[in-house]
Amino acid sequence: MIKIRCPVCGKVGYPHAICNHFVKMHPEAYAVVQKYAMRYKYGWICRLCGKDFAFITSVYVHIMKVHFNEPVDNHINILTPDVEVISDEQVKIEAR
Ligand SMILES: [Zn+2]
Ligand SMILES: [Zn+2]
Repeated sequence: MIKIRCPVCGKVGYPHAICNHFVKMHPEAYAVVQKYAMRYKYGWICRLCGKDFAFITSVYVHIMKVHFNEPVDNHINILTPDVEVISDEQVKIEAR
């Protein structure tokens, strides 16, 4: 399971939680995304260059870094060493 980092405040968590956090807690950053990115299938597309991203936080980092030259935290979508790995066996048990 991957964890991602909020590019605005650095909070780390699972993608779903961080994406919700990003939208709710950073309306000014979300406004940038709404202006320059659009929803696409499973993620987001940058309107300025057509690149696609899995998470709203990733597209925000991309827009700020690449198109506005802002020094935005890029440590995103990385495996963090403290993440517990759930085995297939546990997943099967939970699915019952
Ligand atoms: Zn944040
Ligand atoms: Zn772009």
